[in-house]
Amino acid sequence: MTEDIDAFREHVRRWCAEHVPTDWRAAQTGVSDDEYVRFQKSWFAELHSAGFAVPHWPPEWGGGMSVAEQIVLYSELAAHDAPRLVLAFVGIHHAASTLLAAGTEDQRRRHLPAILDGEIWVQGFSEPEAGSDLAALRTTARRAGDEFVVNGQKVWASGGLHADWCLLLARTDPDAKKRHGISYFLMDMTSPGIEVRPIRQATGESHFCEVFLNDVRIPAANLVGPENKGWQVAQETLGAERGMTMLELAERLGNAGFRWLVAECERAGVLTDSLVADRLAQFEIEITGLRGLCRELVEGRSDGPADASVVKLFYSELLQRLTDFGAEISGLAGHTVLAKPISSGWESGAWVLDFIGSWEWTIPGGASEIQRTIIGERGLGLPREPAGA
Ligand SMILES: Cc1cc2nc3c(=O)[nH]c(=O)nc-3n(C[C@H](O)[C@H](O)[C@H](O)COP(=O)(O)OP(=O)(O)OC[C@H]3O[C@@H](n4cnc5c(N)ncnc54)[C@H](O)[C@@H]3O)c2cc1C
Repeated sequence: MTEDIDAFREHVRRWCAEHVPTDWRAAQTGVSDDEYVRFQKSWFAELHSAGFAVPHWPPEWGGGMSVAEQIVLYSELAAHDAPRLVLAFVGIHHAASTLLAAGTEDQRRRHLPAILDGEIWVQGFSEPEAGSDLAALRTTARRAGDEFVVNGQKVWASGGLHADWCLLLARTDPDAKKRHGISYFLMDMTSPGIEVRPIRQATGESHFCEVFLNDVRIPAANLVGPENKGWQVAQETLGAERGMTMLELAERLGNAGFRWLVAECERAGVLTDSLVADRLAQFEIEITGLRGLCRELVEGRSDGPADASVVKLFYSELLQRLTDFGAEISGLAGHTVLAKPISSGWESGAWVLDFIGSWEWTIPGGASEIQRTIIGERGLGLPREPAGA
């Protein structure tokens, strides 16, 4: 087993040395949206041709790597400073996990190979009055023969501008209790009646969008799971966000994130300062803990009802602390770096931008307060928060 893993690590290292572009950070900073999409798609295709794009999928769909191999893959990609798959993220994680758990065979055959060919997905869950309280969503889907007619508004849809397909939650029974009248759809983003408007963020990027839906027609065959049972299906999507995705992100933080931080301390001449050394040691301990938690979660060795929430909460707050420290060490110079390549994700060494960006992670997929409630109620058995209607 150890020999196999060592050989696999060697294989990934050699591949990275030959294929990871060395100039992508400079070349991809400040580029147009079209160029960002082109670069992301070509990097995805490159990883896919090596068998590295969807290691977490089942073997029959093109994945099948063990957790140990995935960890090696993600840590080597991070160590070689490879670009991240930002655009494909929702497709390979949220959409794929949902389809594998709750989709029909036809839906899987239609979409899983297409995702490998570069199909881009967006998650259409949140609405202006329905974020943490997702079940309050008001977008409606009215049945009309073998179609549904959808009206409403979604917000904070990451990558919505470039998406081909959307994971959509809409209310199909307005008279049922909140969680009972929701259905889960696959929506073709080229359907008439969809308007996508980008939202400009504090970092200057427009990573997410508002999506307006006016009489959009979705075939009934695009329902995922039974009508009015979309809430249960949505838990698969949210579970993927709090679980699988973390394996890669923890390796990124442990390799790229921590390495940038040590380099920054060296640059600032404070590496041997005892207070700095103490903080770095603390980060290393926490990252080691995070990696262990992720591994246990993904291997199914931890089965506590709130374990995915523990991992998501710990990762997102650790990312915040680490980038905050990086911004502090980089001083005034760090505040003048005003652009970074989108393909770097949250660890780029542009510390102030990374710190602002790190706050993204404490909000989606259930904000930190919501994760703490889940951990308290389901994990620790504390009294439940008074529920709404
Ligand atoms: C970077 C990013 C990407 C996103 N991508 C997507 C996407 O692709 N698709 C999508 O559908 N959505 C997406 N979202 C939206 C995200 O899921 C919501 O922002 C999130 O659910 C919080 O909802 P809200 O913004 O309406 O805040 P609110 O729900 O209004 O919450 C505001 C604050 O109140 C707190 N709060 C709310 N209720 C409680 C409670 N019961 N107990 C304690 N505290 C509470 C929250 O924790 C938060 O701090 C994204 C968000 C971000 C930041």
